[in-house]
Amino acid sequence: MYLPTSWRANRAPLLLVALLVVLIVWSMRSSSQRTYAPLSAYFGYAEASVPVNAVTPLPAARAEVIQRSDVDWATQQIDLVLETDTYRDELPSLSADLQAALDYVQQRTEIQLSQRVRVVLTQDESCGFHGITYSDVRVITIYSCPGVASQRVVNIAAHEFVHQLEHDRYGPPHLSADLLLSEGFATWGAGRYWLGGEPTFAAFAARYQHNGSALPLSTHYAGLGIDAMNVLYYEWAAFVDYLLAQYGRAAFDALYVSGGGQQPGAASYSAVYNLSLSALEANWRAQLPSP
Ligand SMILES: [Zn+2]
Repeated sequence: MYLPTSWRANRAPLLLVALLVVLIVWSMRSSSQRTYAPLSAYFGYAEASVPVNAVTPLPAARAEVIQRSDVDWATQQIDLVLETDTYRDELPSLSADLQAALDYVQQRTEIQLSQRVRVVLTQDESCGFHGITYSDVRVITIYSCPGVASQRVVNIAAHEFVHQLEHDRYGPPHLSADLLLSEGFATWGAGRYWLGGEPTFAAFAARYQHNGSALPLSTHYAGLGIDAMNVLYYEWAAFVDYLLAQYGRAAFDALYVSGGGQQPGAASYSAVYNLSLSALEANWRAQLPSP
């Protein structure tokens, strides 16, 4: 099996990225229709495990297992590994849907995957639902459970794929990027897979502002719970959308690699845009649509 150089050279991981999410799986059983669920569909259930730190290296022993696994299905760019039988019956269609999501996010972000990516579908002890991208070793792990519609796996994969694309475009600086930018871009990049019935991410942000649930962009979700995480991811996506539309891609790329140590709002906004994050945020909020 082919493994990227970084896998062999750098077992001590670096990074990750990711998002997470969650859920009480049984509540999701009913949904079998093919819709594009917003994040709130994952976060709308309490008791989810919010990550305290987004930097989660892939443990060496676990990397070893994944490295040795047989590929259950290969698409143009994805090697899919099933560690449970949950989606085995739908393997061909699920694989095609995953590749279609990857095609979509590559086009939307204007970033091409540099090498294949391995997607591992597995299950944790609590039967939670979440995804993690170990972009330095090109492994995306999605935890799911019987009863969770495969479309939800595709939805979360769309977001995780963008984390891999971030690594492919920005390289190692991606691993210490401002969380607002890495998660905002991944959520924005997932586009229709995360928009639900809304036309834009700005529509979510406008609603939060209207109903009093909006949070400052530099808020870290650690310890705040699922609802706050939900709000932040959609606000960050809307803000990234605004930065791209207002100032262009080159400026955004410069901002992305300006550091931030994974702290929301810690990149060098002033140096790139000649405006502080708070000034940019005020301008962004002022032009949100009416909810
Ligand atoms: Zn993420």
